[in-house]
Amino acid sequence: MIKYNLICKCGKKFESWFSGSSEYDLLKKKRLINCIYSNSISVEKSVMAPNLSNKSNKKLKNTKLEKNIKKQLLDFRRYIEKNCKDVGDNFPQEARSIHYDKKISKGIYGRATPEETAELRDEGIDVATIPWVNKSEN
Ligand SMILES: [Zn+2]
Repeated sequence: MIKYNLICKCGKKFESWFSGSSEYDLLKKKRLINCIYSNSISVEKSVMAPNLSNKSNKKLKNTKLEKNIKKQLLDFRRYIEKNCKDVGDNFPQEARSIHYDKKISKGIYGRATPEETAELRDEGIDVATIPWVNKSEN
C-alpha cells in the first residue's frame, strides 16, 4: 500500500491509499480519482519535496527504514505488554526476586536506570533493554 497526498485544483488537499504507484496511474488514466470535496477529477499528487536531490532521496529511504524498525519495536512492545507483567519502577527488585527466588514464570517489564541494568547484568540476571516506542507517534 502506498499513501499519496493529493491536491485538487479547488485547492483542497487529501490523502488516499493505493496498492501501488501503478494503481494510481491507472485510476488517474481512467479518471477515477475524484476530489473528496469538489468531486473534480483535476487531482494531482502533491509534491512533498520539490527538490528531490540524491541526498533527500537517501533521507526518504532512511525514514522508511526507521518506520519499519519502529513498527517492529511497536509490535514487540505490544507483545510484551500482552505477555508480561508491568512492574514499573520496581523492575530491579522484581527481576532479582525472580532470579533468586525462582518465582513467577511470567516475564516482567518495567523501568530501570542504566546503572541498575548494569548491576542486574553483573549479578548474572538476564535483562534486555529495548527502546520503548511511543504508541501515539506515527
Ligand atoms: Zn476539489
